[in-house]
Amino acid sequence: MPLAATLIAPRTMELRNRGALKPESNEVVIAVDHAGICGTDLALFSGDYNVSLPLVCGHEFVGTVASAGDGVDRSWLGKRVTAEINNTCIAYNNPSPCPACTRGMSHHCMKRTVTGIIAHNGAFAEEVAVPAGTLYEVPATVDPVTATLTEPLAAALQTFVMTPAQESETVVVQGAGRLGILIVFVAALRGLNVIAISRSETKCKRALQFGASEAWTPDQAEAKIREATEGLGADIVVEATGQSDGIQQALKWVRPRGTLSVKTTCGLSGGKMDWTRLVVDEICIQGSRCGPFEPALKILAKHQEKLRKLITCLKPLTDVQKAMESAAHEDKIILNMD
Ligand SMILES: [Zn+2]
Ligand SMILES: [Zn+2]
Repeated sequence: MPLAATLIAPRTMELRNRGALKPESNEVVIAVDHAGICGTDLALFSGDYNVSLPLVCGHEFVGTVASAGDGVDRSWLGKRVTAEINNTCIAYNNPSPCPACTRGMSHHCMKRTVTGIIAHNGAFAEEVAVPAGTLYEVPATVDPVTATLTEPLAAALQTFVMTPAQESETVVVQGAGRLGILIVFVAALRGLNVIAISRSETKCKRALQFGASEAWTPDQAEAKIREATEGLGADIVVEATGQSDGIQQALKWVRPRGTLSVKTTCGLSGGKMDWTRLVVDEICIQGSRCGPFEPALKILAKHQEKLRKLITCLKPLTDVQKAMESAAHEDKIILNMD
């Protein structure tokens, strides 16, 4: 009987033997090899991100397609895959898609569930069922543990899909943790001048290795950002700390007509905001969430040795409770199912 780790109440994971999953039509069942723990999982675990429980968490995963329901191309069977997390009309090949899907905004599908987050059990389990339209094959040349970073890397790329940045513009990334470091990395790949801000000296050092031109602690940030931008402020400030005062802090560093890009789904309210500053300086606030998998997989294939270093810990699924408890200070933990 395949194992699944179910969040039954805040801070309480329960390992259960669950009946073998059967794919519904247009779905596949994937034998999960590895699944990453991210900030969203921690927000679900703490209860800050309030969703309906019980829920099997886990949305950053790699595995092998074990079975396929009606309507699924049989050539997926046996392939090593990862999957987008939004289960939409398009992903289910629904003949009458909702208005959001019809308008090409399937990430905002009005009928969507989200694997491991909203009304769809996820991948902290030996098996997960997802619609076939979410699948991407993981190239044989990409190490499957590193490939669990596809989803967060895609989310990092989405920052600059929603806020297209010109080369040589200055982007400040506030928070250089699990997601922030990937944003630093993709921003540097785009030729942006990246300034990373983190409370942790270790994370500052790491940000420099991943493409930041400067990295500072929050008490140094104000002076250094002004120095780097002739006093004007940064073109884009990405808030990736998930702290409730994060947005207010980030707003101070954006130049007039610049963009404050908000990235974390921490489940907390944004706290207070200086609306007057926002209006007077004509600042744009841009949220962004899930991103494109194809370019993420290409970046992974090219830079996997470097990106592999971001994974700091591997644990068996049976240690899921401890893994969730320690993930907040452990950085990137990957659960192994075998
Ligand atoms: Zn995630
Ligand atoms: Zn839809």
